[in-house]
Amino acid sequence: NMTDTTFLPPLIAAIQAEILNNEEEISALDRAIGDGDHVTNLIRGLEALSKLNDELVQLDWSAAFMKIGMTLMSTMGGASGSLLGSMFVSMGKEAKEQDIDLAGITAIYAAGVESIKARGKADIGEKTMLDTLIPVMQSLQSDAEQNSDKATVLANIKAAATQGMQSTKDMLATKGRASFLGERARGHIDAGARTSQLILCVIADQLSE
Ligand code: ADP
Ligand code: MG
Ligand code: MG
Repeated sequence: NMTDTTFLPPLIAAIQAEILNNEEEISALDRAIGDGDHVTNLIRGLEALSKLNDELVQLDWSAAFMKIGMTLMSTMGGASGSLLGSMFVSMGKEAKEQDIDLAGITAIYAAGVESIKARGKADIGEKTMLDTLIPVMQSLQSDAEQNSDKATVLANIKAAATQGMQSTKDMLATKGRASFLGERARGHIDAGARTSQLILCVIADQLSE
Protein backbone atom coordinates (compact mmCIF):
# COMPACT_ATOMS: atom_id res chain seq x y z
CA ASN A 1 0.00 0.00 0.00
CA MET A 2 1.04 3.54 -0.83
CA THR A 3 1.35 4.76 2.71
CA ASP A 4 3.47 2.07 4.33
CA THR A 5 7.09 3.19 4.37
CA THR A 6 8.11 1.34 7.53
CA PHE A 7 10.30 -0.91 5.36
CA LEU A 8 12.59 2.04 4.54
CA PRO A 9 14.63 2.46 7.77
CA PRO A 10 15.74 -1.21 7.97
CA LEU A 11 16.43 -1.16 4.23
CA ILE A 12 18.61 1.95 4.53
CA ALA A 13 20.47 0.35 7.44
CA ALA A 14 21.07 -2.84 5.43
CA ILE A 15 22.37 -0.82 2.47
CA GLN A 16 24.66 1.19 4.76
CA ALA A 17 26.09 -2.02 6.23
CA GLU A 18 26.68 -3.53 2.78
CA ILE A 19 28.47 -0.42 1.48
CA LEU A 20 30.65 -0.22 4.60
CA ASN A 21 31.49 -3.92 4.22
CA ASN A 22 32.75 -3.23 0.71
CA GLU A 23 34.25 0.20 1.37
CA GLU A 24 37.85 -0.69 0.50
CA GLU A 25 36.95 -2.39 -2.76
CA ILE A 26 34.69 0.47 -3.92
CA SER A 27 37.26 3.05 -2.96
CA ALA A 28 39.88 1.25 -5.04
CA LEU A 29 37.55 1.17 -8.06
CA ASP A 30 37.05 4.95 -8.05
CA ARG A 31 40.76 5.51 -7.35
CA ALA A 32 41.66 3.44 -10.41
CA ILE A 33 39.61 5.40 -12.96
CA GLY A 34 38.12 8.35 -11.03
CA ASP A 35 39.10 10.58 -8.11
CA GLY A 36 38.57 8.00 -5.36
CA ASP A 37 35.71 9.67 -3.50
CA HIS A 38 32.67 7.69 -4.67
CA VAL A 39 32.36 5.51 -1.59
CA THR A 40 32.87 8.49 0.75
CA ASN A 41 30.17 10.40 -1.10
CA LEU A 42 27.78 7.46 -0.85
CA ILE A 43 28.49 6.85 2.84
CA ARG A 44 27.82 10.55 3.55
CA GLY A 45 24.52 10.34 1.67
CA LEU A 46 23.46 7.16 3.47
CA GLU A 47 24.31 8.67 6.85
CA ALA A 48 22.05 11.62 6.05
CA LEU A 49 19.27 9.20 5.01
CA SER A 50 19.62 7.20 8.20
CA LYS A 51 18.98 10.38 10.19
CA LEU A 52 15.65 10.81 8.35
CA ASN A 53 14.26 7.51 9.62
CA ASP A 54 11.59 8.90 11.97
CA GLU A 55 10.51 11.40 9.36
CA LEU A 56 10.41 8.90 6.48
CA VAL A 57 7.96 6.53 8.14
CA GLN A 58 5.46 9.41 8.45
CA LEU A 59 5.49 9.91 4.68
CA ASP A 60 3.90 7.94 1.85
CA TRP A 61 6.10 6.42 -0.89
CA SER A 62 5.93 9.51 -3.07
CA ALA A 63 6.89 11.99 -0.37
CA ALA A 64 9.50 9.64 1.10
CA PHE A 65 11.24 9.22 -2.28
CA MET A 66 11.20 12.99 -2.81
CA LYS A 67 12.69 13.54 0.64
CA ILE A 68 15.38 10.92 -0.04
CA GLY A 69 16.19 12.55 -3.38
CA MET A 70 16.50 16.08 -1.96
CA THR A 71 18.61 14.78 0.93
CA LEU A 72 21.00 12.94 -1.42
CA MET A 73 21.29 16.03 -3.63
CA SER A 74 22.14 18.29 -0.72
CA THR A 75 24.49 16.01 1.20
CA MET A 76 26.16 13.45 -1.06
CA GLY A 77 28.18 15.47 -3.55
CA GLY A 78 29.91 14.20 -6.67
CA ALA A 79 28.34 13.32 -9.99
CA SER A 80 26.66 10.35 -8.33
CA GLY A 81 24.97 12.53 -5.69
CA SER A 82 23.13 14.70 -8.16
CA LEU A 83 22.28 11.71 -10.38
CA LEU A 84 20.91 9.52 -7.56
CA GLY A 85 19.19 12.57 -6.06
CA SER A 86 17.36 13.27 -9.29
CA MET A 87 16.52 9.57 -9.62
CA PHE A 88 14.66 9.58 -6.30
CA VAL A 89 12.92 12.91 -6.92
CA SER A 90 11.64 11.53 -10.24
CA MET A 91 10.58 8.27 -8.58
CA GLY A 92 8.70 10.34 -6.00
CA LYS A 93 6.82 12.20 -8.73
CA GLU A 94 5.97 8.97 -10.56
CA ALA A 95 4.88 7.23 -7.34
CA LYS A 96 1.95 9.70 -7.14
CA GLU A 97 0.56 8.19 -10.34
CA GLN A 98 1.12 4.49 -9.63
CA ASP A 99 -0.20 1.62 -7.57
CA ILE A 100 2.40 -0.26 -5.58
CA ASP A 101 2.26 -3.49 -7.52
CA LEU A 102 4.87 -4.94 -9.89
CA ALA A 103 3.72 -2.79 -12.83
CA GLY A 104 3.65 0.33 -10.66
CA ILE A 105 7.05 -0.29 -9.08
CA THR A 106 8.46 -0.93 -12.55
CA ALA A 107 7.09 2.39 -13.81
CA ILE A 108 8.41 4.23 -10.74
CA TYR A 109 11.87 2.72 -11.12
CA ALA A 110 11.89 3.38 -14.88
CA ALA A 111 11.08 7.07 -14.27
CA GLY A 112 14.09 7.23 -11.96
CA VAL A 113 16.41 5.60 -14.50
CA GLU A 114 15.14 7.90 -17.28
CA SER A 115 15.96 10.94 -15.16
CA ILE A 116 19.57 9.75 -14.70
CA LYS A 117 19.85 9.20 -18.46
CA ALA A 118 18.53 12.72 -19.10
CA ARG A 119 20.56 14.47 -16.42
CA GLY A 120 23.81 12.62 -17.18
CA LYS A 121 23.23 12.62 -20.96
CA ALA A 122 24.27 8.98 -20.90
CA ASP A 123 22.93 5.56 -21.83
CA ILE A 124 23.83 1.91 -21.52
CA GLY A 125 27.37 1.02 -22.67
CA GLU A 126 29.15 4.14 -21.35
CA LYS A 127 30.70 2.53 -18.26
CA THR A 128 28.52 4.15 -15.60
CA MET A 129 25.91 3.21 -13.00
CA LEU A 130 23.45 3.06 -15.90
CA ASP A 131 25.02 -0.24 -16.98
CA THR A 132 23.62 -1.72 -13.77
CA LEU A 133 20.42 0.33 -13.55
CA ILE A 134 19.17 -0.12 -17.14
CA PRO A 135 19.41 -3.96 -17.29
CA VAL A 136 17.45 -4.08 -14.02
CA MET A 137 14.80 -1.83 -15.57
CA GLN A 138 14.58 -4.18 -18.56
CA SER A 139 14.32 -7.21 -16.31
CA LEU A 140 11.52 -5.57 -14.29
CA GLN A 141 9.68 -4.59 -17.47
CA SER A 142 9.83 -8.10 -18.84
CA ASP A 143 8.78 -9.66 -15.51
CA ALA A 144 5.91 -7.17 -15.21
CA GLU A 145 4.70 -8.14 -18.70
CA GLN A 146 4.92 -11.84 -17.86
CA ASN A 147 3.45 -11.32 -14.41
CA SER A 148 6.34 -13.31 -12.90
CA ASP A 149 6.19 -14.44 -9.28
CA LYS A 150 8.08 -12.53 -6.61
CA ALA A 151 10.98 -14.99 -6.28
CA THR A 152 11.59 -14.84 -10.04
CA VAL A 153 11.43 -11.03 -10.11
CA LEU A 154 13.95 -10.73 -7.28
CA ALA A 155 16.33 -13.35 -8.72
CA ASN A 156 16.22 -11.61 -12.11
CA ILE A 157 16.96 -8.22 -10.52
CA LYS A 158 20.09 -9.65 -8.90
CA ALA A 159 21.23 -11.42 -12.06
CA ALA A 160 20.68 -8.34 -14.27
CA ALA A 161 22.43 -6.03 -11.80
CA THR A 162 25.42 -8.33 -11.47
CA GLN A 163 25.81 -8.96 -15.20
CA GLY A 164 25.40 -5.26 -15.90
CA MET A 165 28.01 -4.28 -13.30
CA GLN A 166 30.47 -6.83 -14.71
CA SER A 167 29.86 -5.59 -18.25
CA THR A 168 31.50 -2.25 -17.35
CA LYS A 169 34.87 -3.91 -16.88
CA ASP A 170 35.83 -4.08 -20.54
CA MET A 171 34.10 -0.88 -21.59
CA LEU A 172 35.62 2.41 -22.61
CA ALA A 173 34.13 5.29 -20.64
CA THR A 174 32.49 8.09 -22.59
CA LYS A 175 30.92 9.96 -19.63
CA GLY A 176 32.23 11.05 -16.24
CA ARG A 177 35.83 11.30 -15.03
CA ALA A 178 36.83 7.88 -16.40
CA SER A 179 36.25 9.23 -19.93
CA PHE A 180 39.47 11.27 -19.59
CA LEU A 181 41.46 8.02 -19.42
CA GLY A 182 40.59 6.55 -22.82
CA GLU A 183 41.91 3.00 -23.20
CA ARG A 184 43.37 3.08 -19.67
CA ALA A 185 39.83 2.79 -18.25
CA ARG A 186 39.47 -0.70 -19.73
CA GLY A 187 39.91 -3.58 -17.30
CA HIS A 188 38.31 -1.72 -14.36
CA ILE A 189 34.73 -2.06 -13.14
CA ASP A 190 32.95 1.30 -12.75
CA ALA A 191 32.51 2.29 -9.10
CA GLY A 192 28.95 3.57 -9.55
CA ALA A 193 27.96 0.40 -11.39
CA ARG A 194 29.33 -1.63 -8.47
CA THR A 195 27.56 0.37 -5.74
CA SER A 196 24.29 0.31 -7.70
CA GLN A 197 24.60 -3.48 -7.98
CA LEU A 198 25.36 -3.89 -4.27
CA ILE A 199 22.35 -1.72 -3.39
CA LEU A 200 19.95 -3.49 -5.75
CA CYS A 201 21.05 -6.91 -4.44
CA VAL A 202 20.46 -5.79 -0.84
CA ILE A 203 17.00 -4.51 -1.79
CA ALA A 204 16.17 -7.83 -3.50
CA ASP A 205 17.41 -9.81 -0.48
CA GLN A 206 15.45 -7.67 1.98
CA LEU A 207 12.27 -7.94 -0.06
CA SER A 208 12.56 -11.71 -0.22
CA GLU A 209 12.38 -11.98 3.56
P1 ADP B 1 32.66 12.24 -9.14
O1 ADP B 1 32.91 11.55 -10.46
O2 ADP B 1 32.11 13.61 -9.32
O3 ADP B 1 33.83 12.17 -8.21
P2 ADP B 1 31.42 10.00 -7.76
O4 ADP B 1 32.79 9.46 -7.63
O5 ADP B 1 30.60 10.06 -6.52
O6 ADP B 1 31.43 11.43 -8.45
O7 ADP B 1 30.57 9.12 -8.77
C1 ADP B 1 31.19 8.59 -9.92
C2 ADP B 1 30.18 7.66 -10.59
O8 ADP B 1 29.09 8.39 -11.16
C3 ADP B 1 30.79 6.91 -11.76
O9 ADP B 1 31.41 5.73 -11.30
C4 ADP B 1 29.60 6.63 -12.66
O10 ADP B 1 28.97 5.41 -12.32
C5 ADP B 1 28.63 7.75 -12.33
N1 ADP B 1 28.54 8.75 -13.39
C6 ADP B 1 29.42 9.74 -13.67
N2 ADP B 1 29.00 10.48 -14.72
C7 ADP B 1 27.81 9.92 -15.12
C8 ADP B 1 26.86 10.21 -16.16
N3 ADP B 1 27.02 11.23 -16.99
N4 ADP B 1 25.77 9.42 -16.25
C9 ADP B 1 25.58 8.38 -15.40
N5 ADP B 1 26.43 8.08 -14.41
C10 ADP B 1 27.53 8.82 -14.27
MG1 MG C 1 34.67 10.21 -7.71
MG1 MG D 1 34.63 13.65 -6.88
